Amino acid sequence: MEAISINLGNMPIFDGHNDALTRLWLSDDPDPVHAFIHQRLAGHMDLKRCQQAGFVGGMFAIFLPPYAYVKQHHPNKLFDPRATDFSQQQIEQICLEQLNLAQQLAQRSHDIQICTSVEEIQRCRAQQKLAMVLHMEGAESLQHNPDLLDVFYQAGLRSIGPLWNRPSRFGHGLNAKFPHSPDTGAGLTVEGKAFLQRCADRKIVVDVSHMNERAFWDSVDILQQPIVATHSNAHALCPQARNLTDAQLKAIRDSQGMVGINFDVAFLRADGQRNADTPIDVILDHLDYMMDRLGEEYIGFGSDFDGALISTELEDVTGISKLIERMQQRHYSSELIEKLCWRNWLDVLNRIWL
Ligand SMILES: [Zn+2]
Repeated sequence: MEAISINLGNMPIFDGHNDALTRLWLSDDPDPVHAFIHQRLAGHMDLKRCQQAGFVGGMFAIFLPPYAYVKQHHPNKLFDPRATDFSQQQIEQICLEQLNLAQQLAQRSHDIQICTSVEEIQRCRAQQKLAMVLHMEGAESLQHNPDLLDVFYQAGLRSIGPLWNRPSRFGHGLNAKFPHSPDTGAGLTVEGKAFLQRCADRKIVVDVSHMNERAFWDSVDILQQPIVATHSNAHALCPQARNLTDAQLKAIRDSQGMVGINFDVAFLRADGQRNADTPIDVILDHLDYMMDRLGEEYIGFGSDFDGALISTELEDVTGISKLIERMQQRHYSSELIEKLCWRNWLDVLNRIWL
């Protein structure tokens, strides 16, 4: 008798954004790397569930969580409980620790690999390994010494969102308000523009997901490469400042760029509510809207797993199979589903990295 496959679908998934490394860094587990590889870990993803879901890989973010959040929920992670913010030295240390967690995952499991080319991702897909593309969400750790970019590059970093929702030497950052236009302040600083150029020179993906509108247009002016928003949605359907206007979508299409649809309910729902009791059809609504503006080539997933409040219906990474079912119900062809699930991401990475 043949073994029965537990694979929920044969469709490979490549995803634009997750915060699993930050979750591991925040974890109270004495060995979170072991837990990710061998156990079911609280959160949206671990190795076993990724394999079950056909989750080939994605962009794994190195991210500095807000100080107030860490202080409230993970005070044991603070270096000095009397301080009001992280020092620059601590910021750099936190990013290095998350980079090290990624390296440990790859070192301690034959089924996980840090990838720096589409060829490597394809090889992982064939060998059923989890492909990690290292991303940095907010480049505060590099703001005082951008030369350190090369240290991270050597370690495999191939994607950067220079700004997060806070000011840095590189720019004003985004004020994630609802309802609000993406125009929430000044754009990139002189240092920020030089940093973008530095990333572009190394063919690193520049992620505009957390840029306000002025920084977005600054980036469009500077970058000769495709414009990528790894985890953002349509502003017309959910007027959160983090989401993209039709004009921004057009600029992304014109650059042959990419948008990853964010599964966070607050960036999907028309009322912007953080309410997990949200049907997953709303993800399909954003997909449909985006495809009307971008075409079928420049859109995929950008789940924000482990960093988002997602629909209880979706639950975790294995819930992507339900999304695929809905796509079929909406009569998406299997060729289109394949593009949305992984091909488009690999194509845009090739356009930038090659
Ligand atoms: Zn984000």
